[in-house]
Amino acid sequence: MSAKITVKNPIVEMDGDEMARIIWHLVKEKLIEPFVNVDIRYFDLGIKHRDETDDRVTIDAARAVKEFEIGVKCATITPNAARVEEYHLKQQWKSPNATIRSILDGTVFRRPITIKNIPPAVRTWKKPIIIGRHAYGDIYKSVEFLVDTPGRAELVYIPEGGGEQTRLKIHEFKSRGVIMGMHNTEPSIRSFTRACINYALSEKVDLWFGAKDTISKQYHGFFRDIFAQEAGRCQDKFRNLAIQYRYLLIDDAVAQIMKSEGGMLWACMNYDGDVMSDMVATGFGSLGLMTSILVSPDGKYEFEAAHGTVVRHYYEHLRGNATSTNSIASIFAWTGALTKRGELDDTPEVVKFAKTVENAVVQTVESGTVTKDLMLVAEPRIEKYACTEEFIDAVAERLRRTV
Ligand code: NAP
Ligand code: MG
Repeated sequence: MSAKITVKNPIVEMDGDEMARIIWHLVKEKLIEPFVNVDIRYFDLGIKHRDETDDRVTIDAARAVKEFEIGVKCATITPNAARVEEYHLKQQWKSPNATIRSILDGTVFRRPITIKNIPPAVRTWKKPIIIGRHAYGDIYKSVEFLVDTPGRAELVYIPEGGGEQTRLKIHEFKSRGVIMGMHNTEPSIRSFTRACINYALSEKVDLWFGAKDTISKQYHGFFRDIFAQEAGRCQDKFRNLAIQYRYLLIDDAVAQIMKSEGGMLWACMNYDGDVMSDMVATGFGSLGLMTSILVSPDGKYEFEAAHGTVVRHYYEHLRGNATSTNSIASIFAWTGALTKRGELDDTPEVVKFAKTVENAVVQTVESGTVTKDLMLVAEPRIEKYACTEEFIDAVAERLRRTV
């Protein structure tokens, strides 16, 4: 093994909870620390420490990512009532991801890891399909109303400081029914559009955006027009990289995605992104193969696995039973962070090391050492699965032989 590689600038590390935390420490101890010297700015976002600091630590971590540009995060518990009881929490703290996302004003991209012997459920898919989800507004910030008696529903807009009101009839109800009012804002859509364009340019992949502007001429049309304007501004950059921006009707986009070989960034409105990212994740084999990257419009990056804390496996672990939890997405969170750090620092040896780790993971899987989730979908069939630590050890062994 050659000398350790030095990473020029810091990386912000955010620790997390349960089984994800167990994996996290194994990955760091076996695949990162033995090979690189890196100035880690560590924040413990584990639920107990968030509770002790009244969640201050999440805000500090997000600010650190803003300062140092690159963060890597372990999955964390978003507490609900049951978790408050389980961990004796002071309150139901907000989702750390939501806090970090709002401080960085970021867009989340989900990207699957493709490996030869883990065939996607869709035969034509050969390259990753990256999903960018607009994480603001629409039904997620809506008001709704259950109509119980006959009556008239209207949409009313009252301009600030007076001026003429706009009233539109929604429906004359003769019976029971439902109404919803939702919105989005130009700054949020523009910022989402720019994040998608920047990410498509940095990954050198086509950018697709689908909406239903034939039916929703104003609302969906507004999104379509903003995408067209922003993409138009970057025409030269797209042309230089031989990539393109495509607008499609959302139903056509879905059909085209299923027939495609992948390899595009699919920008989705909030609801489409929620639904389609789960379909694409499952289609690519396992939640353990899905990474998630938060990109801010001013070029800060946070890398993590898309899955949660894998509670069921954690309870098994606490009972003293061996687990077989897939660590690949967590490993790729680290390699993603190292790659981006190396690109920003202009240190190709760091980028190369990250690629070497990724290759070691892929070769480990291709040689038939996999965790249980992948054993079930591998082709050709694999008869035996590795436990959590065995898989990481197999990757470490391969890595030691190559660096
Ligand atoms: P999860 O961690 O996403 O896991 C759900 C199920 O998917 C697991 O029980 C397991 O299926 C399978 N799975 C997920 N990741 C896997 C992996 N790496 N290897 C093997 N199988 C994997 O959801 P959860 O267990 O319901 O945990 C929810 C907790 O995570 C909640 O507290 C939630 O707030 C938090 N969460 C955090 C984040 C984040 O920080 N980014 C994201 C989502 C959820 P089997 O049980 O069938 O083996
Ligand atoms: Mg969803």
